[in-house]
Amino acid sequence: MHQKPYDYLIVGSGLFGSVFAYKMHQAGKKCLIIEKRNHPGGNVHNQTIDGIITHQYGAHIFHTNDEKIWQFVNQFATFRPYRHQVKVSINEKLYSFPINLKTLLEWYQTDDETLALKTFNSQISPKRQYQNLEEMALAELGEDLYKHFIKGYTEKQWNKPCNALPISIFKRLPLRQDHNEFYFDDKFQGIPEGGYNVIIDQLLNGIDLKLNTDFFENKSHWENQAETIVYTGCIDQLFDYQFGKLDYRSLRFENETIAAKEFQPYSVINYPSADIAYTRIIEHKHFHPSNLPHTVITKEFPQDYNSNNEPYYPIIDNENKKRYAEYLGMAKEQNYILGGRLAEFKYYDMHQVIASALNQAEQILQKP
Ligand code: FAD
Ligand code: UDP
Repeated sequence: MHQKPYDYLIVGSGLFGSVFAYKMHQAGKKCLIIEKRNHPGGNVHNQTIDGIITHQYGAHIFHTNDEKIWQFVNQFATFRPYRHQVKVSINEKLYSFPINLKTLLEWYQTDDETLALKTFNSQISPKRQYQNLEEMALAELGEDLYKHFIKGYTEKQWNKPCNALPISIFKRLPLRQDHNEFYFDDKFQGIPEGGYNVIIDQLLNGIDLKLNTDFFENKSHWENQAETIVYTGCIDQLFDYQFGKLDYRSLRFENETIAAKEFQPYSVINYPSADIAYTRIIEHKHFHPSNLPHTVITKEFPQDYNSNNEPYYPIIDNENKKRYAEYLGMAKEQNYILGGRLAEFKYYDMHQVIASALNQAEQILQKP
């Protein structure tokens, strides 16, 4: 039988594709990666604008509790210690976020912690189970905080009313009654010096990579290149949307170079008001310090997903979960390996994508 030139064809050079390829290459397997964008790395890619390293697809802070994942990424870059702090801007005042004791003191305009906690606790009515995001946020935060901090932001971000959204989105946010103001609780956190491109370049060292190449423009040709296909794009597209389209949400990023050393005192400031079209402003210098006299900021505008933009977020509600299960069954029958945020249809952060790629590669390599 005619032998195919590669062991693995990997569709997509994001973190999943790059980590999977790295492991297989290390084990002596021949890998070819095809990537439809003009750069590798998917959404962790950094673009240098006016001499400043920027996060082209939104702020990326590395965080994990898993020492194995932390050691894995530290092989490829030096991580600058960085603890993420976010502020929310409401009527031009900044509040600590996610909601913690400092937020309550700021919101209730008092220095009295006991009073702030008493006021907060008198407004909440937590339950064991919730039907939707609105019900949970109202019960856990009370109407006032829900209305100002959550409702506007969430409905802009997802373009759905909060009572039609799953609680898993809200559960990403910690809620604290102490002074801990940091965004993430994880043991290991940081930003790679030089950006994520440093990591991606090393993962891909020695691996064949074709940029500006869309798998679907010549699917049968690419399938003939390798024994096994590893797919990291949208799973509904892989099967020609035969069970219906899965829902994703997109973003538009608007960059601006500002003639000032600093634009805002924090890397990320959120704007929950429904009257402001963007959800947050990022200032990249806070991730990648620089002495340049100017600074670069990015405004993030949520968008419906269409054929001209990128599917950044899977919308994981019950209907989409059901549809996804049908696609997954089909992928298993046809022996595709699926990985990453889009193909696994999971709201993964970077460490979870890396864990999935390492686990899947290790499982395959352990087979006799
Ligand atoms: P992707 O990065 O999407 O890579 C998939 C690749 O496949 C893409 O390059 C795509 O072009 C390519 N592709 C798709 N279809 C085809 C095709 N047909 N042919 C060829 N190529 C194709 N995580 C954190 O841990 N911390 C954060 O602070 C954080 N912030 C985030 C902020 C934003 C705005 C977003 C959107 C995500 C954030 N994440 C964060 C999540 C992180 O970006 C993802 O977990 C990770 O990048 C996903 O990697 P992936 O390989 O699964 O997917
Ligand atoms: N969220 C909010 N107000 C904020 C920030 C976040 O209501 O100021 C909600 C919103 O629904 C968002 C979710 O919390 O989609 C998760 O926030 P996260 O920061 O994890 O979103 P991501 O960084 O993945 O876009």
